[in-house]
Amino acid sequence: MTKIHAIAASALSKTYDITSGFFNKKESLIALEEISFTLLEGDTLGILGESGAGKSTLAKLLVGAETPSSGLLLIDSKDVTNLTTRERLSGHRKVRIVYQDPYASLNPRLTISSLLDEPLRNVTKLSKQERRKLIIKVLNLVGLKSEHGRRLPHMFSAGERQRIAIARALILDPVCIVLDEPLSSLDISVQSQIVNLMLELQKNLDLSYVLITYNLPVIKHMCDQLMVLCDGRMVEYGPTASVLESPKHPYTQDILNKKSKTSSSSTNVKKQYPGCNYCDRCNYVSEHCYSDKPQQHLMGSQLVSCHKVEQINNTIKIRNK
Ligand code: SF4
Repeated sequence: MTKIHAIAASALSKTYDITSGFFNKKESLIALEEISFTLLEGDTLGILGESGAGKSTLAKLLVGAETPSSGLLLIDSKDVTNLTTRERLSGHRKVRIVYQDPYASLNPRLTISSLLDEPLRNVTKLSKQERRKLIIKVLNLVGLKSEHGRRLPHMFSAGERQRIAIARALILDPVCIVLDEPLSSLDISVQSQIVNLMLELQKNLDLSYVLITYNLPVIKHMCDQLMVLCDGRMVEYGPTASVLESPKHPYTQDILNKKSKTSSSSTNVKKQYPGCNYCDRCNYVSEHCYSDKPQQHLMGSQLVSCHKVEQINNTIKIRNK
């Protein structure tokens, strides 16, 4: 059976107007530049990149917290690119998010049932009884019992709170969940339980995930495709196994080898070149890398944005012989 697109993004960009320096000079900061990808139902797309790479901006565009400056975004085959604030609430209901810290993302004063009921009341026309039935069903899906609904978030362990956050994401019957570092606040033993839960839900509900994480074993285990972002641009994109085993872009090679210097999360102090975003740190840089924006090259099954990708990878092949 042919799989359908849960998400399709074409040349998706986000630019912010900022003021900088002593004279409050107005500048444009490109947080995300011409990102294109498709995510099929039941698949997982991993997003890899340092702080300030554009991962959070992409997540905000997907869940409708921000509108794109340009490009096209389809969710469940519907164009959600230019929705008003009011329309975004229902237009993006099919993409939900689970954050790194479940406790911070759950209102401590609301019972779990109220937390799950809130989005249903805001977006659907279900009756109280229908909502109650759905809440119990979703609690069971994440391995919790109906009586847990009467409790407050602080009465749960970190792992259980992440299950509640997943339940809250599931309550509107999404096609995709953005998982923003969903394991980093959990103990190793609990991490594997949450990974298993996410995989089980994916299989049973045909859910798609966009997984933002630095955790390479989890990326390897969960992701079908992997996108590497560097300062707002997609530098490499392809099947996860190929990208991890044979990274083609110098940035991907460096972050996988942990050689890259840590980027500042404050992107507005970074110099943005019209050419390649990695030219300040790349060992293979040439003069035209500063001025000419690299086009995407297909190397095997990977899309790579680098002027010298063939030359670099031929040299690596010869060196490894
Ligand atoms: S385009 Fe130039 S600076 Fe950028 S990654 Fe390739 S070789 Fe390095």
